[in-house]
Amino acid sequence: MAATLNAESRIEKLVTRILVETRDKEAQKIEAWKKPSDDIKRLVRHDYVRSLRRNLPYRELRTLIGAFSEMLPGFNREVVGMMPLDKLAEWAAALDLHFKASPNEGEDGLALRGFYITRRKGILKRPLIYVNTAHHPLAVASTFCHEVGHHMSSELLGEDIDTPVHFFFDADYASHLEEPSELAADVMVSLAAYPEPIARRIFATPWKWGLVARAKDMTEAALAQVRGHLKKAYGFDIMERIPANQRLHYLSGMIHYAKLRWALLAEYDI
Ligand SMILES: [Zn+2]
Repeated sequence: MAATLNAESRIEKLVTRILVETRDKEAQKIEAWKKPSDDIKRLVRHDYVRSLRRNLPYRELRTLIGAFSEMLPGFNREVVGMMPLDKLAEWAAALDLHFKASPNEGEDGLALRGFYITRRKGILKRPLIYVNTAHHPLAVASTFCHEVGHHMSSELLGEDIDTPVHFFFDADYASHLEEPSELAADVMVSLAAYPEPIARRIFATPWKWGLVARAKDMTEAALAQVRGHLKKAYGFDIMERIPANQRLHYLSGMIHYAKLRWALLAEYDI
């Protein structure tokens, strides 16, 4: 018991230290987070098919999907649903991970969605996932899914030995498109949010898939479909419960995960 408590408080201290240090070390990312429209502009212009082709080979994608399907039966076949914190904790325990969830509020705190730390000899026996619960529950569950994506890629594909801490900053999606492990983690979020039958329906015209994933703009109609799906599946609406000063950040995420899902259909027919 004492040993467990000790480990708990060590983890607590480690997370607190990282949260404090992040404010100084990642000041640039925090500044960028204050201008979410820059990220949106980059995402809208971005060719997602090219990023997928370059950064996530089909075989690796299949390996990750296989692992996620084992953990979450129905993954990419039906909506996984919005998991509350206790479910996320159970999932983390099943994966033998340390899990910490707490609100990191304040003016700059919200910039951080969460992080994943690989195991480190002498410091951390098991990998750790932290999620910032100051965000909307759907964002919290998505962050968790993203971090599990990191965990799976590092366990199964052997990546990331050089990056001990993976930070997830809000509205920093354009950078994820250039980094294989970030892109893989986001692909898992995208598949969880838009299982294949729904993706095929929303992005209904096959001949357009590649075109739109590459396209300069996501049409109003497509965005309306995306909003409708998020509302129906998760009760999420960007105009409800989301403070006005955070709406652009959430919009950035909506555009990103939808374009990514589109590109997965176009490139890999998944
Ligand atoms: Zn990440």
